Amino acid sequence: MSSKKIIIVGSGFSSLSASCYLASKGFDVTILEKNKTVGGRARQLKRDGFVFDIGPTFYWMPDVFERFFNDFNTSTKDYYNLNKLNPAYQIYFGKKDSISISDNFEDIKTTFEGIEKGSANKLQKFIDKAQRNYNIAIKDLVYKPGVHVFEIINSKTILKLYEFILTIKKQVTGYVKNKKLQKILEFPVLFLGAKPSNTPSFYNFMNYADFKLGTWHPEGGMYEVVKAMTSLSKVLA
Ligand SMILES: Cc1cc2nc3c(=O)[nH]c(=O)nc-3n(C[C@H](O)[C@H](O)[C@H](O)COP(=O)(O)OP(=O)(O)OC[C@H]3O[C@@H](n4cnc5c(N)ncnc54)[C@H](O)[C@@H]3O)c2cc1C
Repeated sequence: MSSKKIIIVGSGFSSLSASCYLASKGFDVTILEKNKTVGGRARQLKRDGFVFDIGPTFYWMPDVFERFFNDFNTSTKDYYNLNKLNPAYQIYFGKKDSISISDNFEDIKTTFEGIEKGSANKLQKFIDKAQRNYNIAIKDLVYKPGVHVFEIINSKTILKLYEFILTIKKQVTGYVKNKKLQKILEFPVLFLGAKPSNTPSFYNFMNYADFKLGTWHPEGGMYEVVKAMTSLSKVLA
């Protein structure tokens, strides 16, 4: 009996990921893409001898990428080399006014302390809280199939009710007074396509990803991840 056919519209990360899981379960997967190349927002642009990633550049949560490849008995290392960036990134408040974020949390605390006395301890407490949320969000929530509300309302998240009411902006204000430090701590939820003023503080797990897990970059650019997922999906087909 021939395997069931699945057509996936689009070839972004989500489609490539779905194609791998479906192909590994024996489905006959076809991807339809309207653009000339795969990758969606993470496409590559080649012009005048230069190569650009047109979308994502921040490779955060390397554990999540690793888990994806491990699901197929392979590893990111089989496809690309990752480098942890130091500085992770630099935030500009004006032309000659910037703050560098180190790849080391103790150094980040020193940077904070240099700007606002007492903020290193506050940052430690903030990140400890963020780590607890990361463990709930990444280990307990994001891998759920998303079919029932009780996947997100559970014994762990119910205890966090206040963090779903308080916004990240409000929470950050309670930890640091300096406006620039506040902006730095508000920045990571941008990756959720969200505004700190209307995002629950539970999402501070993004800050843990930022300051503790670090900012990485695949040699050759983010398109290496697209190439890796594409070639894995072909192996599984
Ligand atoms: C400028 C920019 C910077 C970003 N920076 C980061 C970052 O640093 N780190 C990070 O983690 N994330 C970042 N992101 C977000 C990240 O790129 C996206 O979340 C991710 O690429 C989305 O993948 P997706 O598969 O969900 O959707 P998409 O990549 O949008 O894929 C959808 C695909 O479907 C195709 N499609 C749509 N309709 C049709 C149709 N009718 N027929 C055929 N094909 C169709 C599209 O052409 C596209 O290829 C950034 C995004 C942008 C735009």
